[in-house]
Amino acid sequence: MALASLELLAGQVTGQLVRPGDADYEDARRVQNGMIDARPAAVVRCTDTSDVVAVVRFAADTGTPLAVRGGGHSVPGFGTADDAIVADLSGMQAVEVDDEARTATAGGGTTWGRFNDVTAAHGLATTGGIISTTGIGGLTLGGGIGYLGRDHGLSCDNLLAAEVVTADGSVLTASEQENPDLFWALRGGGGNFGVVTRFTYRLHPVTTVLGGPMFFELADAPAVLAHYRELIRTAPREYGGFPALQIATPLPFVPENRAGEPFVAVVSCWTGPAAEGERIVQGFRDVAQPVAEHVGVMPYAALNSAFDGLYPQGLQHYWKTAFVRELTDEAIAVHLEHAPKLPAVNSTMHIYPLDGAVQDVPADATAFGHRDASFAAVIVGAWPDAADNDAGIRWVRDYYAAIAPHSEPGGYINFASSDDQAKVPDNYGANYDRLREVKRRYDPDNLFRLNQNIHP
Ligand code: FAD
Repeated sequence: MALASLELLAGQVTGQLVRPGDADYEDARRVQNGMIDARPAAVVRCTDTSDVVAVVRFAADTGTPLAVRGGGHSVPGFGTADDAIVADLSGMQAVEVDDEARTATAGGGTTWGRFNDVTAAHGLATTGGIISTTGIGGLTLGGGIGYLGRDHGLSCDNLLAAEVVTADGSVLTASEQENPDLFWALRGGGGNFGVVTRFTYRLHPVTTVLGGPMFFELADAPAVLAHYRELIRTAPREYGGFPALQIATPLPFVPENRAGEPFVAVVSCWTGPAAEGERIVQGFRDVAQPVAEHVGVMPYAALNSAFDGLYPQGLQHYWKTAFVRELTDEAIAVHLEHAPKLPAVNSTMHIYPLDGAVQDVPADATAFGHRDASFAAVIVGAWPDAADNDAGIRWVRDYYAAIAPHSEPGGYINFASSDDQAKVPDNYGANYDRLREVKRRYDPDNLFRLNQNIHP
């Protein structure tokens, strides 16, 4: 790449352009996953839509690979690449709430923590993930699974409009009224179609929740998981809890002699009247005696950040995912074979419910292609030390291979790894062919290819 071109770009943008050798370069090139060690040609810390347009045009004109970074949480590290130009949106985090319309508009690099803090001041929220440092950008474009999903749908189901910079540098609005094909594709098609500089969401009244984790003996896991499976079939939509396999951390509510052991956990989130939520949580205690628990009434934003400490920047991270129709006894047995081998306290396995409001949305109404699944399971391999990578990755792969016969062929694109590109058609599911048509229209040269890529 010609030096002069990057210098020209630096003069065109208001944000900082960081290059190898600059004091900020080490910081600017890093993403959440410590396994990713890419050295981009430049990182542009975009401050507004016109900066993004300049970076997109530069990449298209010079043939430089383009990485788009929102919250930087992509486990395959799609927010950076060797020799790429990175559009880093983390400086674009303005959030505005319209109380009357019950909507919020947020910059493309906003994190859920920032988003929730602003909307909470208005007594409102929308479906986000379960960790507050994740970006609204990647999470929403891939679908968006979180505590509020059974009641309010996926994050993408709450998207009302997006401002998008497309491959030719145009700034378009995507909504039901304007460019509806693009709007359809953005809701589940990942970062394949352009850079979203502003997201507008529908909000819902959510203030405090009854929530938190309960830990049970692994020996009680069959009963606890079977109870969860029955509960979720009929539970009111205000219940958005999920089961997990998890090593207990040394926290005050965990008996000192049990920290460091693996357990089956249930993380509850209930947004309805507290007494009814208490009955649901009590239902688990009636099945098995918790070893430890920390369930209480708290602001939704507090529950959304309660587990952030388990995922500091720089952690080594690898994962696999599968959609699940039935949580069978056989599948539960496989989970229990692999749970005792959890490699570190940061590693876990979650089974998120995908029913309720998620299934109210017709399968072809958005690009999210798996409305017929009941659950999304994710095997999270995460540990602090790179020396543990081989063993940790093996644990994830062995576990995934064992659970695959009990799962759908496709998994949630936001929980897929860089070695999952061969699974792209299965992962996009029923809507893959239509996604390719939209890709051909908006990005025929595949400028936006650092993602779970839909090849035009
Ligand atoms: P980035 O790495 O910045 O981006 C990820 C992808 O999205 C890239 O391809 C990027 O190019 C694209 N992208 C990001 N922003 C934009 C934008 N504004 N416009 C266009 N493209 C963009 N997912 C869930 O659904 N629910 C969860 O509860 C959840 N929890 C998670 C917890 C952790 C600790 C981690 C690491 C991930 C979690 N995820 C969850 C997965 C998450 O949805 C994906 O990793 C997602 O891609 C992260 O988005 P990001 O903006 O932070 O990442």
